[in-house]
Amino acid sequence: MTPEQAFDFIFNELKKAEKKHPAWTYDAIHASAILNEEAGELTQAAIDFTYTKDHAAEKQKMIIEAAQTGAMAIRFLCGIDNYHPDVKHFEIKP
Ligand SMILES: [Mg+2]
Repeated sequence: MTPEQAFDFIFNELKKAEKKHPAWTYDAIHASAILNEEAGELTQAAIDFTYTKDHAAEKQKMIIEAAQTGAMAIRFLCGIDNYHPDVKHFEIKP
């Protein structure tokens, strides 16, 4: 895969994510968690690729999850000026 193809995968996943979830959080911790959730799915796909027999299907999952991780990194960066440290004060009190 070329860098151009990789960027195309990431851009396509970014557009899908923005359509499905137009809003992005003001909470930097939440935003990083979303990114890490995708990275975790990539790790699972890599484990499945390594330890299962359907390598072609798992390779496709790795591509998708890597692209989704890249897309969430872009969303994280695009939100960088909107994160508010004070968001942690919006807590539910017992
Ligand atoms: Mg995913």
